[in-house]
Amino acid sequence: MLRYTEKTMDVDVCIIGQGLTGLVAALKLKAAGRSVLLLEKDKMSGGLAGDMPLGNTRIEHIYHHCFANDFSLIELLYTLDIEDRLQWYEPKNGLFSNGHLYSFTTPLDLLSCRSISLPDRIRTGLTVLQAKRVNDWKPLEHETARDYLVRRSGKTAYERIWQPLLLAKFGDDADSVSAVWIWNKFKVRGASRDKSQRAEKLGYLKDGFGTLVSAIVEKLKADDEKRVTLMNNVEVEAIEKTKTGFEIQTNDGTHKAKQVIAAVAAPMFNHLTKTLDLGTYRDLLNVTKYKANICLLLSFDRQVTPYYWTTICDDLPFVVIVEQTNLVAKEVYGSHLLYLSCYLDTSDPLWLKNDDEIEAQFLAGLWSLFPDAEGSFQKKLSLIRSQYAQPVIPTLYSQKQPGIRTPIEGLYLAGMSQIYPEDRGLNYAIKLGKDVAKAVLEKNDV
Ligand SMILES: Cc1cc2nc3c(=O)[nH]c(=O)nc-3n(C[C@H](O)[C@H](O)[C@H](O)COP(=O)(O)OP(=O)(O)OC[C@H]3O[C@@H](n4cnc5c(N)ncnc54)[C@H](O)[C@@H]3O)c2cc1C
Repeated sequence: MLRYTEKTMDVDVCIIGQGLTGLVAALKLKAAGRSVLLLEKDKMSGGLAGDMPLGNTRIEHIYHHCFANDFSLIELLYTLDIEDRLQWYEPKNGLFSNGHLYSFTTPLDLLSCRSISLPDRIRTGLTVLQAKRVNDWKPLEHETARDYLVRRSGKTAYERIWQPLLLAKFGDDADSVSAVWIWNKFKVRGASRDKSQRAEKLGYLKDGFGTLVSAIVEKLKADDEKRVTLMNNVEVEAIEKTKTGFEIQTNDGTHKAKQVIAAVAAPMFNHLTKTLDLGTYRDLLNVTKYKANICLLLSFDRQVTPYYWTTICDDLPFVVIVEQTNLVAKEVYGSHLLYLSCYLDTSDPLWLKNDDEIEAQFLAGLWSLFPDAEGSFQKKLSLIRSQYAQPVIPTLYSQKQPGIRTPIEGLYLAGMSQIYPEDRGLNYAIKLGKDVAKAVLEKNDV
């Protein structure tokens, strides 16, 4: 049954999701004169890039940085007049493997990592360097990341270095991930290094990426004609087709729009469009599985690790430690900040535990690596569960990827699994937001 409330809107375009993709699409549509309604189920805008206040600054619930070749992101900062917020850092990275903590910042570090033999270290280094020179990713589509890495680095290097990383991120699905995914990782990281390949440059915004979200929201709201309406705490439950457009049913009433952009993950879109006839397009929505993520943010009196980013290859409840205050000075926040993060399926018992149980399990893991840290622990600042955190991209995905345009005219999907061959990232969410807005405007049927 349809529910209409006083808040019911009738607009040109309804965008579901106020992550960066939805927000950027709204910017473009507003600039083209469209009336836009943005619905978001969370209280805050920003989606995975959402943040919270901390002292005189802000911090993301989930660690974020950007890369030197994130051109869409950098361009947007200029458009919003906040480019001076972008600062570049040269952080140090570590790798925890077989009970040892290795420095893993430069190619030289790889050469001295005794986890594998010298010839295997050289092959591993060459794998990364060679991948960075590959521009045509199409031939890699046929192969899994596993086969590609075994072929290039050898079985031992695969088992000691790459397999734990793939397992950490993709669990049971590790063997089905496409070689294009790992190639892309090498390419993005390589492009963020200087010519000597020594230092990797990572970017971070003064006061965090939440300031980018706020700048977009401010620009969307700055409108005398009130062409853009943002609604938070409004969860979309279904999208229905009508003769003239769409009805968007939410937990807080029904809205009408001539066109709809679902800036959400493909499985969510699948759920919202249950009653629509999407033909074979619906099969494509089920091709990509998503891994969920749990991210815990903690504060300490003292530094815990010497690194910004420590990849964990051993069996622990988390797969990466990100010590934010080894990137940005501790003085900015008033204490040392550290994230612990893991990827998992929503059927995993850990996902079903309550926050206190998860925190206890993560802390026990951290103390097992850094026993001294327990004495300097202050408190948990945030614990966030993201159901759609990382798409598992299979082989030959270019033939299976759902397009931005769905078979129903005026209905668009713009989610993380549609930026292939790139992997998820703020930069690609921004690009996707622009692309989907362009598709809407090209149609010219508003
Ligand atoms: C652990 C982790 C670390 C990351 N680190 C980095 C990094 O260092 N650098 C980087 O560039 N990128 C990073 N990313 C990726 C980056 O955060 C994402 O690529 C980007 O934020 C995706 O934006 P989006 O708008 O496409 O999706 P989301 O941010 O997922 O936005 C979708 C929005 O839709 C809303 N929504 C969903 N369903 C409904 C519904 N039914 N009704 C209403 N609203 C709904 C959601 O609440 C959400 O706000 C990271 C991601 C994760 C998970």
